Amino acid sequence: MRDLENSAWQHSMQNAVRSVSELLDCLGLRPEDFPSPIDLENPFPLFVPREFIARMNHGDPTDPLLLQILPTSDERVQTPGYGHDPVGDQHVERAPGLLHKYTSRVLMIASGMCAIHCRYCFRRHFPYEESPRSNDQWQPALDLIANDPSIHEVILSGGDPLSLGNQRLRALGKSLESIGHVQRLRIHTRFPVMIPSRVDSAFCDWLASSRLTSWIVLHINHANEIDQALIQAIRAMKRTGASVLNQAVLLRGINATVALQRDLCEKLVDVGVQPYYLHQLDRVDGAAHFETPTPVGEQIVDELRKLLPGYAVPRLVREVSGEPHKTVLR
Ligand SMILES: *Cc1c(COP(=O)(O)O)cnc(C)c1O
Ligand code: SF4
Repeated sequence: MRDLENSAWQHSMQNAVRSVSELLDCLGLRPEDFPSPIDLENPFPLFVPREFIARMNHGDPTDPLLLQILPTSDERVQTPGYGHDPVGDQHVERAPGLLHKYTSRVLMIASGMCAIHCRYCFRRHFPYEESPRSNDQWQPALDLIANDPSIHEVILSGGDPLSLGNQRLRALGKSLESIGHVQRLRIHTRFPVMIPSRVDSAFCDWLASSRLTSWIVLHINHANEIDQALIQAIRAMKRTGASVLNQAVLLRGINATVALQRDLCEKLVDVGVQPYYLHQLDRVDGAAHFETPTPVGEQIVDELRKLLPGYAVPRLVREVSGEPHKTVLR
């Protein structure tokens, strides 16, 4: 039964587009339509599900969804101040796959796999192959959590934790539920955005039945990403009792204007999702062409505050390695 329910999203993963020429064919575009040459040899290859391509504008080389996933030669530019581990993740790994950076919560690199390859991803160089792959391999991390009563929240992140099947999520959840001082489970995921059918009944049943209070943090950067299928998935998650938040990354040429951020935030609150963080780009090698100057981000959020209810305005943050929390700029 569970395998049957999983099969729709697993099929979408298998059927995702991995070839630039196929992607351009789908959109009626040619390589020469883009200002920078397309990079066919990038070690972080193209990966995009058809459900997401369907939300791109046909024939538009500046489409804000397309620009998040198309590898170009801009990524080959070496920029001072950019590196492989911009947020100091590798210094806070306390057990395989377990990052303990902030008080009261820990982050598990639950999977190295995602439902999309975002070109600006701050973990694009993360050594996922060293993270646990089976629930047995999670034991040292689980022991560490069990022995530290100051930890009240576990964040499943990655990669994308929803790339694990429901059975593995359920097993991991069960181990966490057995630790009395863990109260909350947070899931950082882009899966429901890319492949809404991932929010299947087995996943929702698991959320609804857990002792832990669940907080789901989506990653949506542009209003065009929100279609009917995603809205249905959000409603299904909310019916389980989970709270649903969003984090976005401020990206030059994609969403870095007041009008676009207003559209995004309004659409999010219309469907019951609260904008949580708007991130200044993490300075990861290959992503410098996406960076927006900090004053631009600050100005955008100042303007949003005049236009929207307080709950619809995200906090503008930057992650500074070694700080005890994300740095709130606005
Ligand atoms: C961002 C992050 C968190 C969560 O921070 P919040 O401010 O609670 O959202 C936790 N752990 C790590 C390693 C992080 O990078
Ligand atoms: S979904 Fe998240 S972790 Fe995966 S590539 Fe995109 S930004 Fe990176």
